[in-house]
Amino acid sequence: MKTVATSLVSNHPMGIEVIAVPAGTKVDLDLRLESVVEGILVSGKAFSVAEGECARCLIDITRDVEASVRELYAFPDSTTAQTIEDDEVLILEDDLIDLEPLVRDELTLQLPLAPLCQPDCPGLCSVCGERLADLEPDHNHEIVDARWAALQSQFGSISEVEEK
Ligand SMILES: [Zn+2]
Ligand SMILES: [Zn+2]
Repeated sequence: MKTVATSLVSNHPMGIEVIAVPAGTKVDLDLRLESVVEGILVSGKAFSVAEGECARCLIDITRDVEASVRELYAFPDSTTAQTIEDDEVLILEDDLIDLEPLVRDELTLQLPLAPLCQPDCPGLCSVCGERLADLEPDHNHEIVDARWAALQSQFGSISEVEEK
């Protein structure tokens, strides 16, 4: 068994539309390579940083992302490689292991479908479109009619009167 610390950089983003490890961003890999009868068993962890946008307030966010990987890379002449559909098994080509598809799949699975800048992100104001987290807590656009306000102060709370 061999332990390898390596990294890879993809020319394509790894993830989904709303959040992904951008193209050109390094993915660190801590891997164990085990020689088995059918090929090489690769397992370990992948670490990188994803970039995206908050699903509620749309600001840019970055997230550490970590994924476990485990895959058998079969020798081209092994029974596994010959009896399984092409796209179900990763074949060692010229003794090289192409880690990118595996790392891409596993990292993508760890990314949230609706990433948030903070767990309780209040989103955007429906009137002015500003980020509520950046605004005063009592932010609102209610225009108080001056005459109505005067009546209200005269009779107390008008909302107690039921409309029929
Ligand atoms: Zn947000
Ligand atoms: Zn507003």
